[in-house]
Amino acid sequence: MSAYDEFQRRSVEAPEDFWAEQAKLIDWQTPPTRILDTSRPPFVDWFPGATINLCHNAIDRHLPARGRQAALIFVSTETGVERSYSFDELHAEVQRTAAVLQALGVGKGDRVLIYMPMIPEAAFTMLACARIGAIHCVVFGGFASGSLASRIDDATPKLIVSADAGSRGGKVLAYKPLLDEAIRLARHEPDAVLLFDRQLAAMDLTDGRDHLAAPLLERHRDARVPCTWLESTEISYTIYTSGTTGKPKGVQRDTGGYAVALAASMKHIFDGRAGETYFSTSDIGWVVGHSYIVYGPLIAGMASIMYEGLPTQGLDQQPDGGIWWQLVEKYKVSVMFSAPTAIRVLKKQDPALLKKYDLSSLRALFLAGEPLDEPTARWIADGLGVPIIDNYWQTESGWPIITIANGVEKKPSKFGSPGVPMYGYKVRILHESTGEELTRPNEKGVVVVEGPTPPGFMQTIWKDDRRFVDTYWKTVPGKMVYSTFDWGIRDEDGYFYILGRTDDVINVAGHRLGTREIEECISGHAGVAEVAVVGVADSLKGQVAMAFVVPKDGAALADDGAARQLEGEVMKRVADELGALARPARVRFVSALPKTRSGKLLRRAIQAVCEQRDPGDLTTMDDPAALEQIRQLS
Ligand code: AMP
Repeated sequence: MSAYDEFQRRSVEAPEDFWAEQAKLIDWQTPPTRILDTSRPPFVDWFPGATINLCHNAIDRHLPARGRQAALIFVSTETGVERSYSFDELHAEVQRTAAVLQALGVGKGDRVLIYMPMIPEAAFTMLACARIGAIHCVVFGGFASGSLASRIDDATPKLIVSADAGSRGGKVLAYKPLLDEAIRLARHEPDAVLLFDRQLAAMDLTDGRDHLAAPLLERHRDARVPCTWLESTEISYTIYTSGTTGKPKGVQRDTGGYAVALAASMKHIFDGRAGETYFSTSDIGWVVGHSYIVYGPLIAGMASIMYEGLPTQGLDQQPDGGIWWQLVEKYKVSVMFSAPTAIRVLKKQDPALLKKYDLSSLRALFLAGEPLDEPTARWIADGLGVPIIDNYWQTESGWPIITIANGVEKKPSKFGSPGVPMYGYKVRILHESTGEELTRPNEKGVVVVEGPTPPGFMQTIWKDDRRFVDTYWKTVPGKMVYSTFDWGIRDEDGYFYILGRTDDVINVAGHRLGTREIEECISGHAGVAEVAVVGVADSLKGQVAMAFVVPKDGAALADDGAARQLEGEVMKRVADELGALARPARVRFVSALPKTRSGKLLRRAIQAVCEQRDPGDLTTMDDPAALEQIRQLS
């Protein structure tokens, strides 16, 4: 048995011993005496009774040894700003922010919704929430007012923290009008809104509700705000993710389990060491941003680079496809984390850019969020000359489920496979309808996780235990297992391959979107009778959304001009309500949608036809001509 196999075996056979040991990687106020409570499956309480604070672990505990070392390095190629904050400076910034939150009435257990671009103040706010025991709910800045409104209603925040604008590729995206519209649409009204002004866009302030951050921060310049110690099982944050219904799910995470999971992953998976620099190119609006821009690297005592901008633009705002590698050289990055889609963008740049900088500090590049195709993996592996490590996980898990634990044993990677199950995870492949475990190599089934789920894994869906159990734990007949909703196979060496979603979730440039959410938005257009949205393979973004619309008025079917107009309106509606990410790449008009005789939309058949694949068994289809029409249009 290899060193890693033994490590993994121990983690699942003796989880109490294993995780008690990992718990020593972090600081506790009251150290754990009990490791886990599984008395209410599938819920798991990790380290019940112990008390902890995430912000203390990310900042305060490092102050004696590395107060002056870099903690957060902010680089914006959108605004040309580059600034490094030491642990001491981060400590001061976070305390100021925490004092402002308190002055605005925020206390333990209150929700603070963060709708911000990639600026350091977003990280300060997250850490300030953690410091005072408030629950942060970060909503990706690329979402528009409709998506934001539904999240405001679900999270019912006391305070919303935002900024005047974000910027992408030099294009300013004003946030405040989107936020105002979202608050208007939402049933819940926050007590206050705190606004950081980057001077990118004008802001209309609502008296009595909106507060500019700068004067408040100045008032609390020298604030000392002690950490509020939380029970390990108390909530650190919620983060929304898309499922198969239009209603987003608030993935809820604990505090102690999360801290332990991150500290362990920094050591065993990412092999990142205190004093080094970690560079994750993700966004704080996604789970990777939470775990591996903000909390994970800081907990490990590393400096974390927070990057605002495209991978192809320099600090002087001129095109520069080498900017990331320039940062690796400059900050001696040892661990880097990105997404396949970003690498596919870089692949179009001059390969000489990979050789222009001294990348000798870099030990590995981790890629996640979507399947890593072999040509992309080979291109970047050849260019960088360091291991490229695919890692498979989900918002729900908070840290990798399947990858290579580089810090335990540098097992070889296999192209196309993220690797093997991580310690703490009992990953199985089950037959879709019988629930029987598939143990022979290369049998395709649903990837599931057997309980108890490890520390860091979601506790539940915010305010909805029943939905958590029904959605994730009851999909396989006769077994209570967590479904990842991904298809997979395992080869003869135990390496897993992920083969796409079993549900109607699509993955655009590494971002997860529910097709139902997009369909609901499109059906709201007065000219739309019916709509089906599917994800279609795309060479750059992995997948893009494609919409097939049955118009109310046949003109869009007969007349090109009418079709173009309706297409433009549909696209704008999605961009305005959900955000540009969700905007379909194409809208096609059809007279009918393919359905089963019982009226169920055949999304998978539509998708297969769009990708020139065999649509499979169509015996239950009501109207074969409908699918034929799609074939001709796609
Ligand atoms: P999210 O919760 O947005 O991170 O999306 C999680 C989903 O992205 C998973 O259920 C997979 O469908 C997909 N995914 C994430 N990482 C990988 C990977 N390394 N390989 C294949 N699919 C992945």
